[in-house]
Amino acid sequence: MTLLDLSSTQFFATADGRDLATDATFDVINPSTGHVFAQAPAVTPEQLDGVFAAAQRAYRDWKRDDALRRTVLLAAAAAVEGAVGELAPILVAEQGKPLADARGEIFAAGAWLRYFAELDVPREIIRDDAERFEEVYRRPLGVVSAITPWNFPITLAMWKIAPALRAGNTIVVKPSPYTPLTTLALARVLRGVLPDGVLSVVTGPDPLGAALVSHPIPRKVSFTGSTPVGKRVAVAAAEDLKRVTLELGGNDPAIILRDADVESVAASLFWSAFGNNGQICLAVKRVYAHEDVQPALVEALGELARSARVDDGMVEGAQLGPLNNKPQFERIKGLVSDAVDGGARVVSGGHAIDRPGYFYAPTILDNVDDSFRVVREEQFGPVLPVMAFRDEDEAIERANNSEYGLTASVWSADAAHAAAIASEIDSGQVSINGHGGGVKMHLPFGGHKWSGLGVENGPWGLASFTEIQVISGPSRLR
Ligand code: NAD
Repeated sequence: MTLLDLSSTQFFATADGRDLATDATFDVINPSTGHVFAQAPAVTPEQLDGVFAAAQRAYRDWKRDDALRRTVLLAAAAAVEGAVGELAPILVAEQGKPLADARGEIFAAGAWLRYFAELDVPREIIRDDAERFEEVYRRPLGVVSAITPWNFPITLAMWKIAPALRAGNTIVVKPSPYTPLTTLALARVLRGVLPDGVLSVVTGPDPLGAALVSHPIPRKVSFTGSTPVGKRVAVAAAEDLKRVTLELGGNDPAIILRDADVESVAASLFWSAFGNNGQICLAVKRVYAHEDVQPALVEALGELARSARVDDGMVEGAQLGPLNNKPQFERIKGLVSDAVDGGARVVSGGHAIDRPGYFYAPTILDNVDDSFRVVREEQFGPVLPVMAFRDEDEAIERANNSEYGLTASVWSADAAHAAAIASEIDSGQVSINGHGGGVKMHLPFGGHKWSGLGVENGPWGLASFTEIQVISGPSRLR
């Protein structure tokens, strides 16, 4: 086992293309040990004035040269891909995920930069004749504040950085205090590749996040995190009519129809629920299986849960790491004990793993219904309740009976029938015979209801970092 020793490495915030000195630091814990392994810079809300002023200065030139932005983002993609070996172990150390997953996350960041570099910022000429010229143009907003959670610090930052910069904005990113280091290191990698001030990364304990929202310079806040905090961000941003994109929580249902082949569904369903230890906004969080297949499905999922290899993310062969942080670890313990008290049958797991760190055994629960907290609330961890339904209308109603509406899935031997059911589900994406298959750089991703506001990715995500402007006048032909 190789634990990364970063105790003597100094991490710095990046502002205006340079180190930003701070008076204080804060602890970063490795969730595989439960011990502090590094210090991150504690940027104060007062220091944001200088950070945002530099971002605003950089905006003046950055917004003007579309061709330069393309070239620079391609160079940034190459720089990120070249730094996978350096960045991935830092991500494992602070987040807990297996090294292969961490490497995949960094590679994907490069791919996102490349995709947006090649995407056009639309300019639509509506009229261009002997009389008039009319054009609808997508203008950048200015400086963007980006705030991210701890489950996919790099993926979710890049969903903001790549389109925001492509559109001509500059950006200040604040990662979660649980996972500050990889984002700081990413900004370090991109120094000298991006012009100074175009990308800044600041870290610190909250209320730094709130200060990024209330600061007068940013014109947009792009936030990924929990629904309660997202609502606070919306209220604070409204004071200044800042534009917002909110990617929030989910309680994603998977509906397994009577004709589904349990054997082939089980493995895919299992990893859709337990990937990243269930700490994915769009993980399957509750299963509704037809009563004819539910018993066999429960047992197949239980078997998969028992055989999944849970270990320190740096250990070769680890499939699942620890939960990211103590509050989340305690929350999962609480949700399972609440379910057991209510009469749930623990098919597998149901307990913390007896070792240091925040390890919890992958848990499948039977004998639960929609009144249980583990079904009603977003668990965001390695616990999956598997319930039975009798008819499809009931399954649709129960799937929709949630404040959330991020993604969902329908599983059946009859894909056309599954698609008809999918259209009844109120969520941003519905996958057939898979879960989360629509999470791609070219497709819009966003939640309905309490799962968010607006979308990221694709041309729609790019557009969300722009404001429409009409330019009209006399004919250009004269
Ligand atoms: P969180 O809401 O606690 O924190 C998210 C970020 O917001 C952190 O950087 C935090 O420091 C910052 N923050 C805290 N208070 C703030 C305030 N008042 N103003 C501005 N920023 C503030 O979420 P978390 O625990 O880090 O992440 C887990 C949650 O994120 C889950 O609910 C999960 O579903 C959600 N999530 C959603 C998506 C999505 O795309 N829809 C993706 C990943 C995670």
